[in-house]
Amino acid sequence: MQPFLAHPFDSDRLHEECGIFGAIGVADASSFVALGLHALQHRGQEAGGIVAHDPEQGFNSAHRFGYVRDNFTKADVMATLPGPLAIGHVRYSTAGSKAATAIRDVQPFFGEFHMGGCAIAHNGNITNASALRRELIERGSIFSSSSDSECIIHLMARSIQRNIPERMKDALRRVEGAFSVIAMTRTKLIGVRDPLGVRPLVLGRVGDEGFVLASETCALDIIGADFVREVEPGEMVVISRGKIETSRPFGPSTGRFCIFEHVYFSRPDSIIGGRSVYETRRQIGVELAREAPIEADLVCPVPDSGTPAAIGYAQESGIPYGMGIIRNQYMGRTFIEPTDQIRNMGVRLKLNVNRALIRGKRVVLVDDSVVRGTTSRKIKDMIIDAGAAEVHFRIASPPTAWPCFYGVDTPDREKLLAANMSTDEMRDWIGVDSLAFVSLDGLYRAVGESDGRNAKCPQYCDACFSGDYPVAPFDQLERGFRMKPGSETAMNEAAE
Ligand code: SF4
Repeated sequence: MQPFLAHPFDSDRLHEECGIFGAIGVADASSFVALGLHALQHRGQEAGGIVAHDPEQGFNSAHRFGYVRDNFTKADVMATLPGPLAIGHVRYSTAGSKAATAIRDVQPFFGEFHMGGCAIAHNGNITNASALRRELIERGSIFSSSSDSECIIHLMARSIQRNIPERMKDALRRVEGAFSVIAMTRTKLIGVRDPLGVRPLVLGRVGDEGFVLASETCALDIIGADFVREVEPGEMVVISRGKIETSRPFGPSTGRFCIFEHVYFSRPDSIIGGRSVYETRRQIGVELAREAPIEADLVCPVPDSGTPAAIGYAQESGIPYGMGIIRNQYMGRTFIEPTDQIRNMGVRLKLNVNRALIRGKRVVLVDDSVVRGTTSRKIKDMIIDAGAAEVHFRIASPPTAWPCFYGVDTPDREKLLAANMSTDEMRDWIGVDSLAFVSLDGLYRAVGESDGRNAKCPQYCDACFSGDYPVAPFDQLERGFRMKPGSETAMNEAAE
């Protein structure tokens, strides 16, 4: 089966690249993992994999292209994944900006060590992966995928520690960047977050002896698991026989969680840091209405991700809220092999305007972000064609002016609209009557930091807005990427 094709306008969105889930101490753990991955499908739709362990049948795995619901609901596939311990992974990749995925790149990855097997599933991005890979290959490692995550297995193989959790610690101490990792041995489920905790990982409980680890709390809800807590930045949890051991392999650390998880990546029904993602997004809309008010007749979300912020904007401004754009719910990613004619239909394949509501109105359109800006332009055209009197764009994140190197698929910097234009220039290029982004301080207030962003010691990773990278993007620097002047010094000071 060929890799799935992205929507023709999919490249105008940032994409989380992975979702991970693991379960231990439950009958048919792979079924729990399949359901958990299904709830995490928004984090990656191209491919998925599950590894399970059964005391009699050992390790088994299945890796497939496509949606979880199309692969891991089939009795013949699930029957091959028995046992009380399993982990899984869903991944995203674009057909255009990167080489299409091969099935050998689909996680979890598996390694057989002399003390037993280990499977790992990684969410994030290793920023020194190229250097590590070069070193490992020079020393004899043979890679079977093009994924940065496979480095972890090879580093583990070179460790002299006697058990797998200790080998993982050795390996992850060599790794730079963002990682939330779920791993399994024959008897243990392991979860680790990088020292900054850039990508999410939560712990849940099922029944008396069962535990699960997941990228988001929405994946706990689907299987009826109770939320226990978040795995902390820099923490490793090892779960076996109903008990959890915890350690801090990287020493003390302060978290720099990805603030974009609040804006866009996570599902609105998830809870992050004790806050409802939906409520945070609604609050971003409130901040936006305070920072960028406008006289208008109607507030419309760009569905679905702009919806909570549009509700907040409408509530704060007192302007009526309405569904001026309707999303085609059944527009699946497998629908088309995009010909030029189909490509030109662009955003109309997925969104349609509610003409009766829009006609003659001054419309405030609320979207989550502007990446290349091409979709914003097309949406504006649709609204104007429908007879809107004015169009005002309000964006529920600051201008995205820098690429992400921590596990989010972003275009190169020169393709980011905000890297090349001022807000006024973007307004003119998109062709709207006004354009405003929530400020970085406004975004921080919406996520609960009442004093806004701490400029000396930011509470979150916000590099795609600020250019302040909390971890050096080593591989990218080697390839010629230029950071914001002064940011390397700030990074070194923060590390000390
Ligand atoms: S650069 Fe942006 S998207 Fe990437 S981890 Fe940081 S805040 Fe998240």
